[in-house]
Amino acid sequence: TTARFEGRTAIVTGAGSGIGRATAVRLAQEGARVVASDISAERLAELTAEHPELALVTVAGDVSTEAVARQLAAEAGDRIDVLANVAGIMDGFLPAAEVDDATWERVMNVNVTAIMRLTRAVLPKMIEAGSGTIVNVASEAGLRGSAAGVAYTTSKHAVIGYTKNTAFMYAPKGIRVNAVAPGAVATNIEAPWNSEWAAGRLGPLMQVVIPGVATPEQLAAAITWLASDDSANVTGVVLASDGGWSAI
Ligand code: NAD
Repeated sequence: TTARFEGRTAIVTGAGSGIGRATAVRLAQEGARVVASDISAERLAELTAEHPELALVTVAGDVSTEAVARQLAAEAGDRIDVLANVAGIMDGFLPAAEVDDATWERVMNVNVTAIMRLTRAVLPKMIEAGSGTIVNVASEAGLRGSAAGVAYTTSKHAVIGYTKNTAFMYAPKGIRVNAVAPGAVATNIEAPWNSEWAAGRLGPLMQVVIPGVATPEQLAAAITWLASDDSANVTGVVLASDGGWSAI
């Protein structure tokens, strides 16, 4: 196979675990210099220890803060070809009557505001270069109302709106912006059922409709396709990689 990202620089958030980690590894294996972001310094250290052969630079910190967004853009340097916004957190499946402010704010900050800040930080360099690809990780919960709690569902619908508007705005600048909507994936994401009501409503339904659990590498394949020149004619789409859940 050809190395699709030879000579390119990519930023990946949530690179310490799961989908972000598989994406960072795949991009680097295909030739990219990768700036790997995670809130967990320990996970980033594990990643680089496991892959000394890869060109990985790590930045530990909360990607929903402006300081970390700027640090990531600076670490990437003059050339930023790819931004993969993968970091995200769940919401305990809390429905509207039960959601607490702390959960709502944290989920919106990490799942939505982080994407806004980091995209804003990298776009000037992409605009100047006249090229660049951005891939945002949404969710089945961005496509339907029956996959998570209200905060997470709202946040992932917002990711899709953000993706489409930004794709529209910057298409004339040669920048493509797409989203991937994973179904269930085997990762370290914490998804406790903190609501009895939600467990009763969603639990039985999800057991029936979820086709199966994917690997992080399967999601990395979709994300890197959208990040690569193979998808040159594709922008503003939401690519479900969910074993067919979204077809139900
Ligand atoms: P994961 O928990 O295995 O990995 C996410 C990583 O993001 C973790 O290493 C975590 O430390 C990091 N992170 C969390 N908050 C951060 C912050 N503020 N700043 C920087 N890093 C932060 O989870 P995953 O399943 O790989 O999730 C990746 C993305 O996929 C998320 O956006 C999630 O919503 C989405 N997703 C996952 C599933 C699934 O079933 N696993 C399904 C649909 C969507």
